[in-house]
Amino acid sequence: MIYKVADNTFRIEIPLPHELLRSVNSYVFKGPGRNLIVDTGMMLDMCMEAMDIGLRELDLDLRNTDFFITHFHGDHFDLASWLARYGSTVFMSRIDAQFLEAIRESGSILLSHEEEFCALSGFPEATLRDAFQAIARYRRGDAKLPPFEYVEDGDIMEVGDYRFRCTATPGHSEGHVCLYDENEKIFVSGDHLLGGITPTIQGRFDQANPLGDYLESLDRVYQLEVNLVLPGHGDVFRNCRGRIDELRGHHEKRASEILALLEKGRDNVFNLASRMGWSIEGALWNDFPSFQKFLAVGETISHLKYLEETGLVTKETKGIELVYSLPPSQRGA
Ligand SMILES: [Zn+2]
Repeated sequence: MIYKVADNTFRIEIPLPHELLRSVNSYVFKGPGRNLIVDTGMMLDMCMEAMDIGLRELDLDLRNTDFFITHFHGDHFDLASWLARYGSTVFMSRIDAQFLEAIRESGSILLSHEEEFCALSGFPEATLRDAFQAIARYRRGDAKLPPFEYVEDGDIMEVGDYRFRCTATPGHSEGHVCLYDENEKIFVSGDHLLGGITPTIQGRFDQANPLGDYLESLDRVYQLEVNLVLPGHGDVFRNCRGRIDELRGHHEKRASEILALLEKGRDNVFNLASRMGWSIEGALWNDFPSFQKFLAVGETISHLKYLEETGLVTKETKGIELVYSLPPSQRGA
């Protein structure tokens, strides 16, 4: 489906094979000079077909089109490798582009730290292997990465009447970047802000505090005057600050949930994640697909790191495994 968002501005809905995320948005900004497409879909036939229809209906020539990728995740980036084949420029943050290059080298989204990840978190190795196999189906290993043009916070991207400022919004990915036009008050949010879905904030043991980064990014975007948000998934929406408040509230609730679990005693990440409430319709933890368990554990890590940073949770090592508990001063009587 193609929707007109504003003059010379369109949203192409690109279908995804996921049950939870049914599509990704590809935004087209038509210029009198070059066009800009923000985010692209996966390297799958279903995405290519939808993109092809969009390009034809909007009368876009790939030879005259560049790409801006908000973050490295496959549903936003992968198809750009193919679309940029006539020498388009592909803009991405240095952090996320280099992360993709590292994944390409090592062939793993965890950068070959899988065993360590399992040992530290209590995650069963067989489940992790299963999770990676499930997503490997969607990644074409033979697609070559395009040469990237790195963008920095504050860089200006001009297309048509738009003058977008690149706005670094680390959290959903470390190098996540949004686009903001001050005159039109349009904010292209990638997965930093979504309307109906809560963007996942994944933590890994070698990262500092991604949830802390995300909450700071929300504060930063809260300062902007925004009339229209163009999110990476779902419909465009207007109430930017209202949505930021809801997202802050969601993470506060999740953090409280972890503290409440820890009041019953110390535990490892995998067990904590298995006891939290996740919004997968009616499913029990044991029935979650492996990749959902992996994401749930990532969410739990990001919240534990945030709580650790704020002094509300302490961590100790039991063998290799990390065990979290409330600091003595926080434990209930
Ligand atoms: Zn996404």
